Amino acid sequence: LLEIRGLHKSFGKTAVLKGIDLSVRRGELVALIGPSGSGKSTLLRCINRLEEPTQGAIFLDGADVTAARRDLNGMRRQIGMVFQAFNLYPHLSAEANVALALRKVLKLPRGEAARRARAALDQVGLEGRYCARPMQLSGGQQQRVGIARSMALEPKLFLFDEPTSALDPELVAEVLSVMRKLSDDGKTMVVVTHEMAFARDVADRIVFMDQGRIVDQGPPDHIFRDSTNPRLADFLRSFR
Ligand code: ATP
Ligand code: MG
Repeated sequence: LLEIRGLHKSFGKTAVLKGIDLSVRRGELVALIGPSGSGKSTLLRCINRLEEPTQGAIFLDGADVTAARRDLNGMRRQIGMVFQAFNLYPHLSAEANVALALRKVLKLPRGEAARRARAALDQVGLEGRYCARPMQLSGGQQQRVGIARSMALEPKLFLFDEPTSALDPELVAEVLSVMRKLSDDGKTMVVVTHEMAFARDVADRIVFMDQGRIVDQGPPDHIFRDSTNPRLADFLRSFR
């Protein structure tokens, strides 16, 4: 579904991505791990064109995302992104936050948008909290509204950038369980995370980045048991 070839990204003279090749199959969950500054967020931002790649090609479902003349909004509609910060409108209810995206992006009429917004909130376990404003919700609930907003748009690909790292520890599990459910439903997901237990239990494949390159990758058993890569070993040691 996603195919990245020879991706480079520099900011001025600083090379941040130094030749990334990565394919993600339909229905696959790829966990992206690596030290701070290794380029994980930059990679996600290149995929949905929040950043312009310096070199290389990215294909989503066969279409070249990097083609200069591509309609950016049409392309981003196919890619859902969930950030660490929830980016909800504080003055709008949970339902209105989700419905607004449906009306703006998919141009749905008000009633249809509201109906689909409520259905998405139900799926993330927020039935009965339609009218709550972000302030009245816990961090985990706010992030689930953010996920519902992505889900409602039915993107082909979900990108998550540390969706739980702003949360109190006791709220992390509820968000991870929503993500696990999305994956069980067959969604294609690339997840940057420091939750190693989640990566081990839920990811089909784990990709380890260091200094702008993919240094090692494979199924969880490879990464956590069989790999002999010293940089990966150092990185994993920092979690113990
Ligand atoms: P973290 O785990 O801390 O989120 P990361 O792997 O997501 O790290 P990136 O945010 O992709 O890392 O950053 C990689 C490098 O690129 C960093 O050295 C950062 O300073 C640099 N960088 C990122 N965005 C920009 C920018 N807009 N301008 C200049 N440098 C940038
Ligand atoms: Mg980051």
